[in-house]
Amino acid sequence: MKGLVKYDHGPVNMEVRELPVPELKPGEVRVEIRAAGICGTDIHIYKDEYPYNPPVIMGHEFSGIVDEVADTDEYRLGDAVTGIPTTVVCGVCRYCTAGQHSLCDSRLSIGSGVHGVFTKYVVMPAWALRRIPEHLDLTIGALSEPLCCCVKAVSIRTSVAAGDVAVVTGPGPIGMLTTQVAKAEGAYVILTGTSEDRERLELGARWADETVNIDEVDLLGLVRDRTQGYGADVIYECSGSAAATRSAIELVRKQGTIMQIGLHGAPFEVDFFPAELKEIDIRTSFAGSLDAWDRTMVMLDQRRIELEPIVSDVVPLFEWENAFRRLLNKEGMKILFEPVD
Ligand SMILES: [Zn+2]
Ligand SMILES: [Zn+2]
Repeated sequence: MKGLVKYDHGPVNMEVRELPVPELKPGEVRVEIRAAGICGTDIHIYKDEYPYNPPVIMGHEFSGIVDEVADTDEYRLGDAVTGIPTTVVCGVCRYCTAGQHSLCDSRLSIGSGVHGVFTKYVVMPAWALRRIPEHLDLTIGALSEPLCCCVKAVSIRTSVAAGDVAVVTGPGPIGMLTTQVAKAEGAYVILTGTSEDRERLELGARWADETVNIDEVDLLGLVRDRTQGYGADVIYECSGSAAATRSAIELVRKQGTIMQIGLHGAPFEVDFFPAELKEIDIRTSFAGSLDAWDRTMVMLDQRRIELEPIVSDVVPLFEWENAFRRLLNKEGMKILFEPVD
């Protein structure tokens, strides 16, 4: 099978290679990949800003069909599935036993620590698979994982309620999904971006109460206007840009919450003093958790979240260079790979 491999440390160092179809151990399931999404994390790996064990097949967001099972009756051949990327964990630490596998010290995820899904077949432990609801297109089901990250950040790691004003910075796929989850929680959502994000903001207007191009509109003034001068109850920072995190401290109200969802990838300077005076609750959320996965699959079943408009392209894996280049240029939205023979 062909797989997109990060073969060494350093920027890029990626190529499509011929690899053996993986064998199964008891309790494992082999999935034939139908679609695999490029995530911000993959961009970080591309740029050498995120830990990984080369040579490794990249990619952790997927949908596919069960192709083979070994000593497990949980899944049958042909089942439509997606899955939890954190497949290697110790299983006994306080985080593992609480279903917070992404915090386990021994964690390895597909696509960085072990072979991922930018290929034709992936082997997963049965416990890490989730069934894609029948009404959902199999290709689109690959967005379950990024949705899960947003559900954890919005519905589990922060509290937001009807009437709260939320600002979402960074109108990429995570910003779009965060906007939808925050709306489902009842928040009034202001989605922001720059002039480079014009098309993305147009798409975001489908879900957000307001979209703001911060190059043209005084965002702080607008947020104050919508909040009787107090500032936003919660900021969901989805861009991973230093400037956005700095501005979040300015936009949030006293005793409000900043939820940092985007990964920064590099150190940056921030004046923490205003945050201290405002008693801001600064939180982060990294990947998913078992409770977030449960909630995510229920929300998809309830048709509460629209995934399809977020997919801008479905391209064969051979076109990976162009796909990464486009995302680096902020073109397109969620790009999915199809496996190639
Ligand atoms: Zn991801
Ligand atoms: Zn553990």
